[in-house]
Amino acid sequence: MTDFRTHASRRGGRLDLRHLLLLPLALLLGTGSAEAQGTVEIDSRIQEMVAQVSAENLEHLVTTLASFETRNTLSSVDDPDRGIGAAREWMVQELQGYSSRLQVGLDCYDVAASGRITRDVEICNVKAVLPGRTDRRVYVSGHYDSVAQIPSDAEGEWPEGDNPAPGANDDASGTAVAMELARVLSQSGLEFDATLVFIGFAGEEQGLFGARLHAKRALDEGIQIDAVFNNDIVGNIRAGDGQINGTAVQVFAPGPDDSPARTLARYAYRFGKAYMPHHDIRLVGREDRFGRGGDHTPFNYWGFAAVRFTEVMENYARQHTVDDTADGVYFPYLARNARVNMGGVASLALAPEAPDVNSPNGNPRLTRGESRYAAHLEWEPSQGATSYRVFIRDGWSMDWQQVYEVGNVTEYTFEGLSIDEHFFAVAAVGPDGHESLASPYDRPPRVIEEVETR
Ligand SMILES: [Zn+2]
Repeated sequence: MTDFRTHASRRGGRLDLRHLLLLPLALLLGTGSAEAQGTVEIDSRIQEMVAQVSAENLEHLVTTLASFETRNTLSSVDDPDRGIGAAREWMVQELQGYSSRLQVGLDCYDVAASGRITRDVEICNVKAVLPGRTDRRVYVSGHYDSVAQIPSDAEGEWPEGDNPAPGANDDASGTAVAMELARVLSQSGLEFDATLVFIGFAGEEQGLFGARLHAKRALDEGIQIDAVFNNDIVGNIRAGDGQINGTAVQVFAPGPDDSPARTLARYAYRFGKAYMPHHDIRLVGREDRFGRGGDHTPFNYWGFAAVRFTEVMENYARQHTVDDTADGVYFPYLARNARVNMGGVASLALAPEAPDVNSPNGNPRLTRGESRYAAHLEWEPSQGATSYRVFIRDGWSMDWQQVYEVGNVTEYTFEGLSIDEHFFAVAAVGPDGHESLASPYDRPPRVIEEVETR
């Protein structure tokens, strides 16, 4: 792996050094790979936004959400103090107060009774949009609906709607992360390349209804969603068996290895770690916790990149009960998880779009080059990019192991490097050093047709 390295070590692009501090990538890749090269540019403006994430504000948001007693999707929409209607009305007002740049509103759907939705109901997500230079979107989400079993309920029965369900950790905590990032990012005065969307989904507890409806509509309307940072159960540090951890978070991303979700997970790790180096970001290569689900999954199902953040120490005894109260949320820990989100979300929203590495027929533009023994990569230029980075990992690795600054070019050749034994991706870098998602050179699995016999 060393023979080609000298061909690729030059740096490209101009960096605005007023804002930036260069860190060796080897410190940030987490794999401890001695071969890792390249840099992550630390932007002092993102550092400032990370610092502005406030545990006190998060506590205010979670305790207020819990104070509506229940936010069950089937609870009252008319009571001014209690139920999901009062909760979403308050969220809209709170978000509107952050900045006139935020476009705040409800995203509603009429849903017929089915399964745990025991009567026809209007499901309303709460959405705040911070327009960027482009329409492509980066999401931060949680679900603001809640649910609680009634002790007298039969096993497995789902309550109809009006019993107390404070839902402080599940998932006022994730909703508060989305709202707090909306506050800090909308008040930053920065202009982002991507449009930022902060959203609280409803109907999650009945079967991901709000997220399913929203993601499918985005697909049908051709809306480009580049990333969904979904936060669900992110504020508790003490497991039911007494284990405690307030310095780690899980990030779930289903495969295959170069899926949009895993591409986003690698990015969330790289830039979460850059801005929160003392937080243990644990990538998990599965869809969700074992046998459980969340709002990132419909987005992945319809082809968007989405990951789920969840605390590492869940307390199952409090989830989906009247005991899911704000005293079970440790706000300094919730703030750390919000800051990890901020590192990834702000970096991605400031970066250019990821380059297209496929030809019009959908095949990746990765060949063996003229020599037939090289790795030759081509890609389309990304608007606003001033340089590109090539990422390489070997054939049985999950994390990128090498990063090359290849300059402002749209093709690159690594002479003597096998395209069979390695995986490749290219990211675009903007004038201030912000890096896009890495576009993988990936082929869909071969379709095998049954042979007709006679
Ligand atoms: Zn939840």
